[in-house]
Amino acid sequence: MTAALHVDLDALAANLAVVRARVAPAAHMLVVKDDAYGHGLVPVVTRAWKEQVRWFGAFDVQTGLAVRTALGAAARIFVWQIGGLGEARDAAAEGLDLGVGDALLLEDVAAAASATGRPVRVHLKIDTGLHRNGVRPEQWAGFVARAAELERAGVIVVDGVWSHIAEASDAEDDQARRVFEWGWDAARGAGLTPARRHLAASAAAFARSPFRYDLVRVGAFAYGIHPAGGPDATHLGIRPIARLVAPVVGVGDQVRIGIGALDGLPSTLAGRVSVGTPAGARALVSVGDEVSTVAGWDGAAPGDEVVLYGPGRHGEATATGLAEHIDTIGEEIALRVSPRLPRRHRG
Ligand SMILES: *Cc1c(COP(=O)(O)O)cnc(C)c1O
Repeated sequence: MTAALHVDLDALAANLAVVRARVAPAAHMLVVKDDAYGHGLVPVVTRAWKEQVRWFGAFDVQTGLAVRTALGAAARIFVWQIGGLGEARDAAAEGLDLGVGDALLLEDVAAAASATGRPVRVHLKIDTGLHRNGVRPEQWAGFVARAAELERAGVIVVDGVWSHIAEASDAEDDQARRVFEWGWDAARGAGLTPARRHLAASAAAFARSPFRYDLVRVGAFAYGIHPAGGPDATHLGIRPIARLVAPVVGVGDQVRIGIGALDGLPSTLAGRVSVGTPAGARALVSVGDEVSTVAGWDGAAPGDEVVLYGPGRHGEATATGLAEHIDTIGEEIALRVSPRLPRRHRG
């Protein structure tokens, strides 16, 4: 046995139902960037599609194309990292929904659409204060006017207006939402009639109904990753879908387990957290490159399973619980799990 990330797709389905109920009547776009937050893209989107998820937030074009291959033509696949004309062409040819927050990219997308011979759906992004990308409010009027021109020419269809918010303080989010509303009105004033607005990720989608609009882009909560320092998973009604498991490879004063920093286990966790063992919670004593050590228990034997993080059944913490000990967030713990570790899907 080797270390592996065990992913419970039934738990994913349960979380998806919780998200859906929470945000309705808004629709849920499942964010699947970074290999579905490290959980394995294709099994995740395949199950989500069965669970009636119809929107997927892929981030980059390559991931978007992989989702298209997995799910076929009916899936709505949103990408917002588009590397110029070449990628815009690939995305257009496969009918992806393109998030555009840059005037030059809008021209590339228009050129790509012309080459494809059918209109491309775009979602115009206004920068509401996060300054990641997105068109600044002072440039927005010109941007939406140009989009309206391209739409009238049959080159693009403006399907949405969107933005991304920090979800760190209600006051900042409220200010961002005012800018967003202003941008929506300006887009409509320019003659556009987008079908949808999307602004919220997990935290705002759950906590703040005015932020839901027509569509929410939820990743973390769908995977059962709750916010560091925020409400716990039980409180939110979600549960972790992944268990990071390593085998016992040797027993002495301490128990050695077959996982280490090269597998993505942060070495800073050593001495700070407990892991789940057949005898319950035990301290993680050291983290080596490939082998780590855990405080022993009676009867420990090679082949026993130790859970680094998971739903808590063996005394282990959640990914977010580990993250809180080293001042990061649960997503970071999930994303660090090395691609070289197998993902094992159940359900
Ligand atoms: C990652 C991401 C999301 C999802 O955020 P979660 O907090 O994981 O739900 C939504 N929108 C954008 C633009 C993102 O990059």
